[in-house]
Amino acid sequence: MELGTEEQKKKYLPKMATGEYIGAFALTEPSAGSNAANLKTTAVKKGDKYIINGSKHYITNAVDGQVFTVMAVTDPEKGAKGITSFIVEKDFPGFQLGAVEEKMGLRGSHSAELFFEDMEVPEENVLGEVNRGYVNALKILANGRAGLAARNLGSCEKLLEHCLEYANERTQFGKPIIEIQAVQHMLSEMTMMIESLRSLTYRVAWMTDQGKRVVKEAAIAKLYGSEVYNKVADLAVQIHGGIGYMKDYPIERYFRDARITKIYEGTSEIQRNIIAGELIRETRK
Ligand SMILES: Cc1cc2nc3c(=O)[nH]c(=O)nc-3n(C[C@H](O)[C@H](O)[C@H](O)COP(=O)(O)OP(=O)(O)OC[C@H]3O[C@@H](n4cnc5c(N)ncnc54)[C@H](O)[C@@H]3O)c2cc1C
Repeated sequence: MELGTEEQKKKYLPKMATGEYIGAFALTEPSAGSNAANLKTTAVKKGDKYIINGSKHYITNAVDGQVFTVMAVTDPEKGAKGITSFIVEKDFPGFQLGAVEEKMGLRGSHSAELFFEDMEVPEENVLGEVNRGYVNALKILANGRAGLAARNLGSCEKLLEHCLEYANERTQFGKPIIEIQAVQHMLSEMTMMIESLRSLTYRVAWMTDQGKRVVKEAAIAKLYGSEVYNKVADLAVQIHGGIGYMKDYPIERYFRDARITKIYEGTSEIQRNIIAGELIRETRK
């Protein structure tokens, strides 16, 4: 939506909006994780096509996706400023799906490897300008981080709902466990964290709508949201006692799913680097 030409938008967006096409974002490679610019996948122009060779891993929706944003090196001399984004359809010759990862959590979606062997991509499938792929991806990832904060908030709200329901139903020592002060304190702790995450998330959303720079705020919301989600999921297991550890209840799934939020879309350490980078930028301007 942000970078596509009118033709690209007409061709892909309606199908993506109806769910006929599922999209995937393919940046990460074995050599390019936190240092995402260290790509080995190359794209070489040949006539009116680009020939892409290389691989990606950990790509969400790789199995079910029809259309992929793939980042590849177009000018190796220029580092991060020599990377281009391409719109790749899974039917393009040379596109190959690799092994599907066995994950701790997020098992409702597949993550897999991708291989490109002399994959032919028409020139009109360049997304945004040539050599601006990484710079544009960084901007889009900043918005993605605000979205992840919102997803974390939603998961936490649902966990609190489950906990309130269970704490009212479950009785020990002749009374519902919600009447036990230790349990009440856990519920209060969860609520306090959830409400502060809500304020942060809504603020980033509001700032985005105002067209303001949200690099620092989105990193804070992503980082804090993942901390809160992990703590809330842990407390939720505790409130549920033994059943919280069992697969009969959804709580253990949230607990497993929460962990990835400190890793993907930029690890917590990278978010701290971004926040510090913005602080330095603000003090030096
Ligand atoms: C389930 C799942 C789904 C994913 N989905 C996608 C997807 O759809 N598309 C995609 O492109 N990628 C995806 N990823 C990749 C994800 O974004 C990367 O795994 C993540 O950015 C971390 O990279 P890495 O795994 O190579 O870890 P590394 O970069 O090797 O990091 C290892 C450790 O070193 C630390 N570290 C590294 N550099 C620094 C630094 N400069 N300062 C401080 N600490 C540092 C990290 O914080 C971490 O603790 C997914 C990953 C997973 C696990």
